[in-house]
Amino acid sequence: MSAELFAAARRVIAGGVNSPVRSFQGVGGSPRFIERARGPFLFDSEGRRYVDYVGSWGAMILGHAHPEVISAVAQALQNGLSYGAPTRLETRMAECITGLIPSIDKLRMVNSGTEAAMSAIRLARGFTGRERIVKFQGGYHGHLDDLLVKAGSGALTLPDSPGVPGATARQTLVLEYNDSEGIREAFAREGRDIAAVIVEPVAGNMGCVPAEQDFLATLRELCDQYGSLLIFDEVMTGFRVALDGAQGLYGIRPDLTLLGKVIGGGLPVGAFGGRADVMDHLAPEGPVYQAGTLSGNPIALTAGLCTLQHLARPGFFAGLGARTRALVDGCLARAEQAGVALRANCSGGMFGLFFSSDARISRYEQVLACDQERYRRFFHSLLAEGIYLAPSAFEAGFVSAAHGDSEIATTLEAVDRALAALRQSSPE
Ligand code: PLP
Repeated sequence: MSAELFAAARRVIAGGVNSPVRSFQGVGGSPRFIERARGPFLFDSEGRRYVDYVGSWGAMILGHAHPEVISAVAQALQNGLSYGAPTRLETRMAECITGLIPSIDKLRMVNSGTEAAMSAIRLARGFTGRERIVKFQGGYHGHLDDLLVKAGSGALTLPDSPGVPGATARQTLVLEYNDSEGIREAFAREGRDIAAVIVEPVAGNMGCVPAEQDFLATLRELCDQYGSLLIFDEVMTGFRVALDGAQGLYGIRPDLTLLGKVIGGGLPVGAFGGRADVMDHLAPEGPVYQAGTLSGNPIALTAGLCTLQHLARPGFFAGLGARTRALVDGCLARAEQAGVALRANCSGGMFGLFFSSDARISRYEQVLACDQERYRRFFHSLLAEGIYLAPSAFEAGFVSAAHGDSEIATTLEAVDRALAALRQSSPE
């Protein structure tokens, strides 16, 4: 049935999906069409249940249809859907975020992570009067032209995108992730032209690859030395790896931070914020223009604020991290037993599995060199057992607060069988 639904979708939606990675192009087969979701589970059009490790690409940190979020949204709906005028809720949301992430003095709400990245890049250029942007291979910051150069996520499965003007792409300098020497050389060459360095402090669009401490410290040092802005893209890691984001884990303070996913609680939201002197460059106070008809939408902010209030409860991230660790350690132990070369990284509630025999995965080339065919077969074995991993070897996985011991145990039993099947079909 999913094949028919996909065929119908393809007749009227470009590629049958509203975002490429959903199409299963990376793993083959037809995408499952989802009817509803609750807690850790997705239910497809045929009524099959899956333990969900995609969680709307990280947004659903409390699990699906969390009763408090749903009831807050239901109540907010009674007051209308959008006003295009200021609300107290927007101030409360901003107070909540600035209270939890010390590097953010002021912020602005937008509607997606892409919009946050696009706005922050313009602001960085307007603030510094420079045009060059540094990004890293395998980093994905949304589909804006400036950053769709050697990007991760769905773009990792495609060549660099046609439609991006050469002049725009040339303003983007793409360097190797976790290579402190490379960034030093780039700054020595052209540091005075660099408006900003944008980085995922834990890369989540080439599996899950945490930055090395020294790498982020070098970025901070060079940006200070050359007057460039350091932008942490925490669209994925914000309120996912820790309550104060990856910047809290590393103890490094960026000039600007991008947020999305979790802060919308499942509705379309993004935000960018940081140093007050930089943010004050935005219109109407400053000259850099940025706007949005639905920005700060009351329904989306209600879902987001309710979600954030939950995360702030004591022990939330300790519990989430422990369950994610249990899942990852369980996969590694079973792979070792089965004689399958598997590596894993995790941070807070996100993880990445790599079919590789490298001792440690910290570079983009290592991710590219992983055995994608093995991932494809592993993915389909698990899917057939009701376990829904990301349909691409290059995406991170996400655990939510609703994933309990029993879901982790069920997953590991299925992992056992999937690894045994891999071992049988392609012994190393
Ligand atoms: N930045 C990062 C790190 C992301 O992972 C994503 C999306 O996956 C984005 C930006 C873009 O966010 P959105 O898809 O909401 O535009």
